[in-house]
Amino acid sequence: MKLDAIKPKFVEFVPKVLEPGVLYISQKYKTASHLCACGCGEKVVTPLSPVEWQLRNEGGLVSLYPSIGNWNYACHSHYWIRRNRIAWSGGMTQQQIARVQARDRVDKTRYVAMVNKEKDRAAQAESAKTETLGSVIRRLWTALLRWFGS
Ligand SMILES: [Zn+2]
Repeated sequence: MKLDAIKPKFVEFVPKVLEPGVLYISQKYKTASHLCACGCGEKVVTPLSPVEWQLRNEGGLVSLYPSIGNWNYACHSHYWIRRNRIAWSGGMTQQQIARVQARDRVDKTRYVAMVNKEKDRAAQAESAKTETLGSVIRRLWTALLRWFGS
């Protein structure tokens, strides 16, 4: 039984047993879960992050971007959740699936690289600060030596 709608439910913890037709959303843990909309009973977990899924909530009408592609499950379902509606998409060929997965990997790598760059920048700023402090101490030390030396 393919669903054509899903009801969002905002929760702190996603329950172990999911009800069909409900999209559980935990803002706190940045994840959403639902049972595959085809009715196969598989649990679909969609982490919410800039490189995974983005959730849009328009006054209780939720959309997930990008689409849900359950190619790891037997059903191979592919659909969009748009404003609490399930928009069924055509099945993807193995080739298309591989392409999407490759793109996801690239996005993720890029995101990780960006985060690391931020970390590097912070570390550099930190070491620059230490350096400044070091040169101040060195200057004081030199002044002190000069003073004692004279
Ligand atoms: Zn399914």
